Amino acid sequence: MKTCIYYFSGTGNSLAAAKQICEALGDCELVSIASLGGVEGAIVPEAERVGIVCPIYDFGLPAIVAAFARRLHAPDDCYLFAVITFGGAGKSALTQLDGILRERGRGLDAAWAVAMPGNFPPIARPPEGRKREEILAKADTAIAKVTEKIRRREHAPPEFTPVTSLLRSLTYPPFIRNVHGADGKFWLTGACTSCGTCEKVCPVGNIEIVDGRPVWQHRCQLCMACLHFCPVEAIQWGKRTEHRGRYRHHRLTVQDMETQQG
Ligand code: SF4
Ligand code: SF4
Repeated sequence: MKTCIYYFSGTGNSLAAAKQICEALGDCELVSIASLGGVEGAIVPEAERVGIVCPIYDFGLPAIVAAFARRLHAPDDCYLFAVITFGGAGKSALTQLDGILRERGRGLDAAWAVAMPGNFPPIARPPEGRKREEILAKADTAIAKVTEKIRRREHAPPEFTPVTSLLRSLTYPPFIRNVHGADGKFWLTGACTSCGTCEKVCPVGNIEIVDGRPVWQHRCQLCMACLHFCPVEAIQWGKRTEHRGRYRHHRLTVQDMETQQG
């Protein structure tokens, strides 16, 4: 049975989850949402199982995933599922996704949220050491269980969560309004070595290296890949990221992230 999984990933949590599901199911195609470009044109997958794997930003979907969902025309007879990776709290992105898909004709058959290490240093230091390892081990187990449910085509549509939905109604609209220009808060320390990694890992091609330094192009998704993958921690955002450590999924390489651009 063919499966097609669409993914978006900043620090590798969602790509690692999508890969784990794909490899366990077999006969599975991974498609980068960022590689599909633009906001126009229907996306019609040809698969019996269709999945969406992405993180949660400000209690909602990354802007690029919301735009993708508006273009997705999943066949009526396919099994349509979603897996959200989250570091803080909230499953409200699943009901948001379900709502967008229903406007297009059909909702999710099943949806799950899997806790992964948090990766937004402006708000909190990413977990480190043993704590990080424990979260990742639990995530691997949770994803393995989710995969078996997908294999059985289990019916588990997203449930309305009043608290996180309320929080989303408050924080998500300003996030979406400002997200593309949020890269105006990135700045560089003197440690930059002009290696170009930030340009490679940006999933949406929002960074150009000019005179050996990254220049942000105001099409940002605020995924933080550039900040986390910089090998010398030269990239900062706002006032609170200098001493908050960095995070990237341990199974993901710069080359893996580079494939997102398509
Ligand atoms: S990844 Fe870091 S060191 Fe490399 S070019 Fe970008 S900012 Fe400079
Ligand atoms: S510029 Fe940085 S934060 Fe913005 S989309 Fe690219 S990698 Fe993500």
